[in-house]
Amino acid sequence: TAPGERSTAAAAHRAHRAEELPVPRVSVVLYTSDLRLHDHPPLRAALGSADAVVPLFVRDDAIAAAGFTTPNRQAFLADCLSLLDAGLRERGGRLVVRSGDVVDQVGRVAAEAGADEVHLAAGVSAYAARREERLRRALEAAGRRLHVHDAVITALAPGAVAPAAADHFAVFTPYFRRWSGQRLREVLGAPRTVPVPDRIGSEPLPTAAGLPGVSPGLAAGGEAEGRKRLAAWLRGGLDAYEDRHDDLAGDATSRLSPHLHFGTLSPVELVHRARRHGGPGADAFVRQLAWRDFHHQVLAARPDAAAVDYRTRHDRWRTEATAGDEIAAWKEGRTGYPLIDAAMRQLLYEGWMHNRARLLTASFLSKTLYVDWRIGARHFLELLVDGDIANNQLNWQWVAGTGTDSRYNRILNPLVQARRYDPDGEYVRRWVPELAALAGPLVHEPWKLPHPARAGYGYPAPVVDLADGLTRFRRARGLD
Ligand code: FAD
Repeated sequence: TAPGERSTAAAAHRAHRAEELPVPRVSVVLYTSDLRLHDHPPLRAALGSADAVVPLFVRDDAIAAAGFTTPNRQAFLADCLSLLDAGLRERGGRLVVRSGDVVDQVGRVAAEAGADEVHLAAGVSAYAARREERLRRALEAAGRRLHVHDAVITALAPGAVAPAAADHFAVFTPYFRRWSGQRLREVLGAPRTVPVPDRIGSEPLPTAAGLPGVSPGLAAGGEAEGRKRLAAWLRGGLDAYEDRHDDLAGDATSRLSPHLHFGTLSPVELVHRARRHGGPGADAFVRQLAWRDFHHQVLAARPDAAAVDYRTRHDRWRTEATAGDEIAAWKEGRTGYPLIDAAMRQLLYEGWMHNRARLLTASFLSKTLYVDWRIGARHFLELLVDGDIANNQLNWQWVAGTGTDSRYNRILNPLVQARRYDPDGEYVRRWVPELAALAGPLVHEPWKLPHPARAGYGYPAPVVDLADGLTRFRRARGLD
């Protein structure tokens, strides 16, 4: 037995066999939301302590059963797996894909490979915690070890900074102060070679071709694609980010969110590279990456916040039973408020929506229509390619006023927001073709057109009067 090695069944097997043949040490790297080769601590650690690795992705039955494998994310995932496999092949290896129960499959592959270690990136959701626990128990029972690596999926591990008397930060500003003062780990390069044993079989890689229900304007996935986008962003968009990030028509944000969600880009690398680039745009961008970590540390500490109010305001929300038509109009982009409808149609078409538009449409549903935030969050998760339990559920809670926002009773007025963030109406004309002939800001208020002209546009009348929505919300929250 090597110094420091535990006397496990696998080690005993190797010691016994060592007298005959040297048996190579193999480790399994279980990929989840970290589908890359660059800056990948689990892969680097596995390669550092073994002669060969099995890079494994399991199409997990439990994730499918939870309804999380939506068409847009499945299509993006197929791209990610295909490019990960291509990157591994360039390095002499390949990706192994299995499907079923993740713990069973990891155990099986580890046994087939004679691996005594499995490496995995730490996750933050309740499901990820359960998976980790089940894996640890099953692997230990078979004499194998599980290594869980922090700062792979987030820049800073949840819990790496915490206030004096609590397990997590509930307020962003003090979190950001502490987060900014931390030294992040160094960025790791992609390995040059990744030896993978021949004998481990793989299912065919999933493909996106012919998948029904995929948004027509969905972006392509995969690490090489993400790195191209990152390079273009650092060259072209980052400097203007602080000034332009809220300009809806300008579309001047990074659009890196799906790559962060699937881990085709590393948040640690992004922070380092933005800081090295420097300037107000880079500072503003790093702050958004800290928001991402912030929501992840809230979810890690309060996993039930995915479904339950983080801070209850004793709401008695309207639901499908009481607001079915309004919910349908919101989902389909026909509320009669052009900015809301433009945003909801962007979501349908691209599987992505601008952050300002997410804030606005979420406020409209949860406050102006006073509909349960979970109904909106579910619809977003159904379509968003970056749909993420931590970011989606906690941003929804933030907007609905049940989360970490201290101004929890504010309500965004779509007309005021339109004047600020789409002053000329260009974003609306892009996504609401019925109104494309209306020049300038009039496009935001089609009801001001004289009646015969208005009817000709075939655009719906508003589903709610904004003043009535405000009154309903204020009464419900006991403010009037
Ligand atoms: P950029 O502006 O370029 O920001 C860079 C990165 O910072 C983003 O890619 C993202 O990872 C992170 N980031 C930016 N803003 C936030 C934020 N408010 N909270 C957390 N991280 C942030 N983001 C998701 O990744 N997945 C979701 O499911 C999701 N759902 C949302 C739901 C609502 C109601 C709201 C208001 C926001 C949601 N966001 C979500 C956050 C944010 O809108 C998106 O991350 C952002 O629009 C992605 O575009 P980008 O990559 O161009 O962002």
